[in-house]
Amino acid sequence: MSDSARVISASSLVKRYQSGDGYLEALKGVDLDIGRGEFLAVMGPSGSGKSTLLNVLGLLDDPSSGTVELDGEDVTTLSDREKTTARKRTIGFVFQNFYLIPTLTAVENVEVPALLDRDSETRERAISLLERVGLGDRLDHKPSELSGGQKQRVAIARSLINEPRLLLADEPTGNLDRATGRQVLDEFTRITDEGVAVVAVTHDPQVPEFTDRTIRIVDGELER
Ligand code: ADP
Ligand code: MG
Repeated sequence: MSDSARVISASSLVKRYQSGDGYLEALKGVDLDIGRGEFLAVMGPSGSGKSTLLNVLGLLDDPSSGTVELDGEDVTTLSDREKTTARKRTIGFVFQNFYLIPTLTAVENVEVPALLDRDSETRERAISLLERVGLGDRLDHKPSELSGGQKQRVAIARSLINEPRLLLADEPTGNLDRATGRQVLDEFTRITDEGVAVVAVTHDPQVPEFTDRTIRIVDGELER
């Protein structure tokens, strides 16, 4: 993959967690390049290191060794503050449990990641993102008034508010029935068509139908 085609590149990622007297190696030297607009699924059994990998790629957690490059820049050496800036500029997140704020409406939830640098366009952008995910008629609904699939689409709209180049999703269809899961996966496909890379870690066997590439992680190692 050429440098310009890569949005994120991980080399020799190792992640160790303290465990009793010793340690547990959750990632054992993972190499992974993800291209612009690529839809990648990471599958593998429970406990194999999928969430750990996603958290390290998303700069939410530091690797014990190895590097992560975002747009060709090594971000593992940045300060926490610089990492936060890089994350906000580049990466959006979607989780299994949606993590919407129950007291806010759909449109307010979508605005949350942009609140600190809120400008007059934030509301317009939040509305247009909700329209784009098919929720233009649910702007003022609270999460409790939305179905699971609608909540996940609000979370996807929220993940896009800062115009990321990479969207990281941890079990994005894990709480959805099959048909609703497919709607969410269709949404990811549309997003990658616009040049945003999507990495989804999942158990869901229907996800590979939608992706450009599916890899498996077993016991902290990518299967070759
Ligand atoms: P997956 O998402 O594939 O189910 P995880 O990445 O959550 O797997 O976990 C990989 C391994 O690392 C598991 O053995 C898990 O128990 C362990 N682990 C994950 N997070 C921590 C942590 N914060 N502290 C200690 N061990 C952890
Ligand atoms: Mg997990």
